[in-house]
Amino acid sequence: MSDAPVSGRRVVHLRDARVTYGRGATAFEALRGVDLGIDAGELSLLLGPSGSGKTTLLQVMGCLLRSSGGEVALFGHSLAGLDAEALARLRLRHVGFVFQHYNLFPTLRAWENVAIALDLKGVPRARRRGEAERLLDRLGLADRRDHFPAELSGGQKQRVAIARALAGAPELLLADEPTAALDGRTGQEVAAVLHELAHREGCAVVVVSHDPRMERFGDRILHLEDGRLIDDRRPSAPDAGAGFVHGPSP
Ligand code: ADP
Ligand code: MG
Repeated sequence: MSDAPVSGRRVVHLRDARVTYGRGATAFEALRGVDLGIDAGELSLLLGPSGSGKTTLLQVMGCLLRSSGGEVALFGHSLAGLDAEALARLRLRHVGFVFQHYNLFPTLRAWENVAIALDLKGVPRARRRGEAERLLDRLGLADRRDHFPAELSGGQKQRVAIARALAGAPELLLADEPTAALDGRTGQEVAAVLHELAHREGCAVVVVSHDPRMERFGDRILHLEDGRLIDDRRPSAPDAGAGFVHGPSP
């Protein structure tokens, strides 16, 4: 596994992925046989109604949940033979997560929230602050490095969370409804940042949303319903996020 992402490289491979919650009379099939390949360098938008299995699918891609059948591979390596510890290592090295509610530490400054992730990824103490600040700068937060989460807007908090998810340069970035708590315009700015990360850094980015307005930011649109992928298409529209990439539009 190389550390540098290569555009177009297959990052996630799923064949007949299945997840059942519970057992017996209360068993519920949340994923009912999903076939899917995710490549580096593009943003895949995963849409579907509440309860359709979007979070479950994201967790399977991020090695947080195991598929009960079929095949799951990351970077060409099957996960089948890996124990929980090996899965956790793989996740730590190669996968970044972004959540709806930011999950920042309220008592830590923006740069410290990012530095914690760098610590987990094994970056030596002496390099953490500089690297955290570089990541925040990239997300347009150069003047917010020393702020506490309570002093940031929703969109800024989410950008800190994205900077944190980028600690250690993961090849796969998974975002679960990252714009759901944001107003329309701020949500679009965050979506555009994620879109740019896929295109400029070559990350494979998968964004879950139940908001069809986010469609324009997907290079690829996946629709999930009742645990099944019912649509998978690539809108031909040119670079959807372009207008938002370098900050708020006028
Ligand atoms: P989505 O993210 O699309 O809203 P989820 O993947 O969270 O959907 O859930 C899919 C289905 O699985 C839902 O019906 C949900 O209630 C059920 N489910 C999710 N997690 C669990 C769990 N830990 N135990 C039992 N059922 C669950
Ligand atoms: Mg969900």
